[in-house]
Amino acid sequence: MVRAIVGANWGDEGKGKITDMLAEKSDIIIRFQGGSNAGHTIINDYGKFALHLLPSGVFYDHTTSIIGNGVALNIPYLVKEIQDLVSKGVPEPKILVSDRAQILMPYHILFDTCEEARLAGKSFGSTKSGIAPFYSDKYAKIGFQVSELFGDADELMDKVKNVCTLKNVMLENLYHQPPLVPEEVFATLQEYKEMVAPYVCDVSAYLHQAIQEGKNILLEGQLGSLKDPDHGIYPMVTSSSTLAAYGAIGAGIPPYEIKNITTVVKAYSSAVGAGAFVSELFGDEAVELRNRGGDGGEYGATTGRPRRVGWFDAVATRYGCRIQGTTEVALTVLDVLGYLDEISICVGYEVDGKVLTDFPVTSVLERCKPVYKKLPGWKCDIRGIQKYEDLPENCKNYICEIEKEIGVPITMVSNGPKRHEIIERKPQ
Ligand code: GDP
Repeated sequence: MVRAIVGANWGDEGKGKITDMLAEKSDIIIRFQGGSNAGHTIINDYGKFALHLLPSGVFYDHTTSIIGNGVALNIPYLVKEIQDLVSKGVPEPKILVSDRAQILMPYHILFDTCEEARLAGKSFGSTKSGIAPFYSDKYAKIGFQVSELFGDADELMDKVKNVCTLKNVMLENLYHQPPLVPEEVFATLQEYKEMVAPYVCDVSAYLHQAIQEGKNILLEGQLGSLKDPDHGIYPMVTSSSTLAAYGAIGAGIPPYEIKNITTVVKAYSSAVGAGAFVSELFGDEAVELRNRGGDGGEYGATTGRPRRVGWFDAVATRYGCRIQGTTEVALTVLDVLGYLDEISICVGYEVDGKVLTDFPVTSVLERCKPVYKKLPGWKCDIRGIQKYEDLPENCKNYICEIEKEIGVPITMVSNGPKRHEIIERKPQ
C-alpha cells in the first residue's frame, strides 16, 4: 500500500515526526520532490536530527530510503547527511537514488544567492540552496540526470560546454561573477559520479516490484500545499510540487496506487519566507508563540531564521487538505497551545466588504483580513496524555472545531515532538 505524508499549510507541520513514526511499520520511504532546502526535525531514540535530503525513515534497520527522480539531488550534501547519521550512532541506512534524479550543481546555489542579493528587499526569502535555478534548468532541459554521469563522456562534455555558455552570459553580465569553466564543471560531475555510484537504482522498476509484493511504501512530502507552484501562494512558493499527486511522478509509480493521503496539519500557523499570511500574529503574542512553538521555538531547521507565526487558519487549511486529496489528518504541535486563555481560529477572510471561506488567488489574498472565532483554552500541559478521552474538554473542543472546519477526519493528534507522543482518535 502506498501512503503519502504531506503538509496542508506552509511547511514545518511536523511531517518528519509523523513519517519517522509511521516508518516503523513501513518498508520503503521516498522523497519525491524538493531538495535540501527544507528541514525535517526528528527526535527519536538516537537523538535529535534535522534531515534535509534523506527521507525521515532512515532510522530503522528494516527500511529502504529512496531519493526519487523528482528531487533536487545535491550529491555532496547527501553523502554528508549519511555520514552525519552514522557518526551519531544510527546504523548505516539502505539508500537508493533514482537514476532519473537530476543533480543540483554548485552553480545553482551561486545563482540562487546572486538572485536573492539582486532582488534585495523584494527577495523570495530563499534558503539559497539552489532549488529555483535547479528546477528552472530541469524544465529548460539543461539539467544533468544521474544516468548521464554513466553515459558517454564526450557527450557529457559537449553538454557541459553548452550549459556554461548559457550560464556565463548571466553570471558575467548580470551578476558580475567570474565565468564557469567547462573543465571544472566536468570534473565536479566526475567527483559526483564516484560519490553517488553505490546508490544508483532504477527506482520506478524497484517500486513496481515492491508494490506487486504488497510492501508498505511512504511518500514523504516537503513543505505544504500553500507552497505548491500551481496551487499555492504564487510566486511566494517553492519550485516543485508539494502535493501528494506529484508523489506518483516524483517517485515513478501509478497515481492510483496512492491509497492513503495523510495530511499533516499544524494546530497553529507558521511560515517561512515572504508572502501573504492572513492570520499572522505580531508583537508580544507572536514572540511568545514563536518561542514556545515546535520543540524549542519556531526557528528554521535549515537557516535558523525565526518563522512567522499565527492563529490556525481554517480557510487555508481546508483548501490545503482539499488540494492534497486528504484521506486523513494528523494534527500536530497541539501541546504548544496549552498556555493560552483563549485561542482564535481564522474562519473567514474579509475582503471588499465580503467574507470569503474559499482560499483565493494571491492578488486577493494579499488584501484579506482575518475573521476570527474565539475558543477557550485548556490551560494545562497535555504532553504525556495517551488517550483521546483523557484530553481536557476544551482541548477536545478545539480539535473537533478544526475537524468541522476542514471537513476531513482527524485520526492522529500529536502532543509532543517525540516519536511516540501521539494520540489515536476516532473521527467524530
Ligand atoms: P516538517 O518539515 O513538516 O517535518 O516539520 P519541521 O521538522 O520543520 O517542524 C516541526 C517542528 O515541530 C519540529 O521541531 C518537531 O520536532 C516539532 N514537532 C513535531 N510534532 C510536534 C508536537 O506534536 N509537539 C511539539 N511540541 N513539537 C512537535
